[in-house]
Amino acid sequence: MRVVLMGPPGAGKGTQAEKLVKRYGFPHISTGDIFRAAVREGTEMGLKAKEYMDRGELVPDEVVVGIVRERLQAVDCGQGFLLDGFPRTVAQAAALDEVLSADMMTTLDGVVNVDVQEEELVARLTGRRICRSCGSGYHIKFHPPTVRNVCDKCGGELYQRTDDTVDTVRQRLAVYRSQTTPLIEYYGQRGILLTVDGARDIEEVFREITAKLDEQAKGR
Ligand code: ADP
Ligand code: ADP
Ligand code: ZN
Repeated sequence: MRVVLMGPPGAGKGTQAEKLVKRYGFPHISTGDIFRAAVREGTEMGLKAKEYMDRGELVPDEVVVGIVRERLQAVDCGQGFLLDGFPRTVAQAAALDEVLSADMMTTLDGVVNVDVQEEELVARLTGRRICRSCGSGYHIKFHPPTVRNVCDKCGGELYQRTDDTVDTVRQRLAVYRSQTTPLIEYYGQRGILLTVDGARDIEEVFREITAKLDEQAKGR
């Protein structure tokens, strides 16, 4: 299955992606994770991306599209993939359509839109913690690890992203509103948008997503 997971920062995309990958076996492609890895490794692309990320702005389309195009060529994407955090602009969506049709002779099966109100998002993002070793996501109140600051899955140390501060979060939400919400219309018109209520607990959101994806897969 070829799926895009979209929604504002903090909607629960990464959290749901961890679970979806286990269920469907497709690779998880998070452009945010790719950029953070490049920043850690200190590559030229990472240094460039970091400036935008620290300001809560989007990395330029041509940079992101190049990375995703290359990643989709890998053999593990042949049977499907889960794109998380890409596309984020109409230009990126159009480029994705082009890569899928021209390079891979295929199309998207579904676009899951995880819907959550803004005040809830601020609370989620400022309490978010991530495992340094395996990348698993936690929340100090809503999804705490068994032992404080220690990953349940691998024992790694948890950290807070430098862009998960109140000011940067507000900026990222504004960017989402202006640049990414047009995609709801873009995919809605194509009949592949699957909107789920992301304001419920993690398991309930997961059940709604899988029910909608399974139904979509049956109909195609
Ligand atoms: P979140 O999980 O909060 O939605 P991400 O980890 O997806 O955030 O992204 C972190 C940052 O990486 C973004 O604020 C942006 O600067 C950059 N980024 C990630 N994906 C994209 C994209 N598709 N286009 C442009 N910038 C991106
Ligand atoms: P995104 O990838 O969309 O930015 P994350 O999956 O990282 O979002 O989730 C943001 C924060 O909210 C994390 O700390 C996560 O543990 C928490 N979270 C995710 N889903 C829920 C939920 N349904 N209810 C409460 N908190 C959640
Ligand atoms: Zn871990």
